[in-house]
Amino acid sequence: MSAHFIDREYIKNLLEEAKYTDDGAISRSLDKAERFEGLDHREIAALLVNENPDHLKRIFNAAGEIKRRIYGNRIVMFAPLYVSDYCVNRCAYCSFNCGHRFDRRKLTMDEVREEVKILEKMGHKRLALEAGESNAECPIEYILDCIQTIYGMKFENGEIRRVNVNIAATTTENYRKLHEAGIGTYILFQETYDEQAYDRIHLAGPKKDFAWHLTAFDRAQEGGIDDVGGGVLFGLADPYFEVLGLMIHNEHLEEKYNVGFHTISVPRLCPAAGMNIADFPHLVDDATFAKIVAVIRIAVPFTGMILSTRESHEMRKKLLQMGISQISAGSSTEVGGYAKRQRDETVNPQFFVNDDRGALAIISELMDDGYIPSFCTACYRSGRTGDRFMSLAKSGQIGNVCLPNALMTLSEYSLDYGDDAFREKASAAIEQEIPHIANEAIRLKTVENVEKIRRGNERDFFV
Ligand code: SAM
Ligand code: SF4
Repeated sequence: MSAHFIDREYIKNLLEEAKYTDDGAISRSLDKAERFEGLDHREIAALLVNENPDHLKRIFNAAGEIKRRIYGNRIVMFAPLYVSDYCVNRCAYCSFNCGHRFDRRKLTMDEVREEVKILEKMGHKRLALEAGESNAECPIEYILDCIQTIYGMKFENGEIRRVNVNIAATTTENYRKLHEAGIGTYILFQETYDEQAYDRIHLAGPKKDFAWHLTAFDRAQEGGIDDVGGGVLFGLADPYFEVLGLMIHNEHLEEKYNVGFHTISVPRLCPAAGMNIADFPHLVDDATFAKIVAVIRIAVPFTGMILSTRESHEMRKKLLQMGISQISAGSSTEVGGYAKRQRDETVNPQFFVNDDRGALAIISELMDDGYIPSFCTACYRSGRTGDRFMSLAKSGQIGNVCLPNALMTLSEYSLDYGDDAFREKASAAIEQEIPHIANEAIRLKTVENVEKIRRGNERDFFV
């Protein structure tokens, strides 16, 4: 096994010792969590293995409190855009794996435009560009073309303002090119931090190299990308091991680059063509998954957490209360899937999503549940990335920045994409939130800007 910062035995020992943690120590960890101080490895392990219902209740409450106090009731919206399903890897869980035979394709630039047009009509401003790994069919130049095409599109009302990128681990030089193309976050899931499981599940291809995959964010940082988003695919190995792996990875980045993960994604394994989900012995049940989300929330209170449509409507509703700050809506996990859906053609996705409601229905329900859907991309556009974003989050100032931006972008969204009922609902939600902007000058400016957006004569404000 190769040398790197994930020490398998260390994590295994932490989890073994955690079983013997006494109630007093658990209670002290929870006190710390309730003060938003984060948790160390030993404490995280102890909370993960803990099954005491009273402790669990406190974990969920602390996660909910962090969510309310740090992130307020804003939920950032995004959608994935699959551009190519060519892949040279053989990941046992994925239908794009090279051993699975189907008609592969990548989008032409005209098709990219067609997909983006549909996504824009849903009101999206933030995309996650997704592709399989293939230097021959999908080289970095192709990805750069896609990004340029997307940023080059202007519609009557909207445009895509932030393209996050989720492509295979690559070289520092390629990360520099992505940085120069103006990407938002570079997202890469480690899939599993357990090197033995990783080796078993990744049957062939460059991704089989655990250390190459694990050190991708180091190369991304060296290439100038300071917003990186981590994650594991829950269901591949011991989920508690994965949480500790994520935390150690985050600390590695904090120590080396002064900034850890910008976001953590929590994808859970879904059924897919070309694989049988019953072959995976570590599937995570809903109760365990909820505990994991809550423990991550209290362990790293200032890191955004992303939940995709892999989760069901009910599970998303539940987990939003425990710290999720960003969700996707109206997603297709197929190359060309948005246009295909409009034409009612059969779909052939990377995996089958659970929450298949339309974007407007999801966004509207968020408001019914007391959330403010946010289409904000301001931090990235004003250069508040990496440690500049983190210091803003840690100082508690995020409420004076993100809340006004969320309200302005919701106002914009309701005008452009909502019907009368939606507009009414959004207006009421905005009125209710305005008093929560602590800074008076920003509060007044927000009221003025929302009014201008409603009159439809001016756009594109952000704090
Ligand atoms: N091909 C690149 C890679 O693997 O890093 C880019 C990302 S791939 C398009 C997006 C992610 O989908 C993968 O990282 C994996 O975690 C996830 N995925 C693959 N198969 C899945 C499945 N059956 N259920 C849920 N997520 C899956
Ligand atoms: Fe290819 Fe990514 Fe799927 Fe693996 S997860 S087979 S690298 S697309």
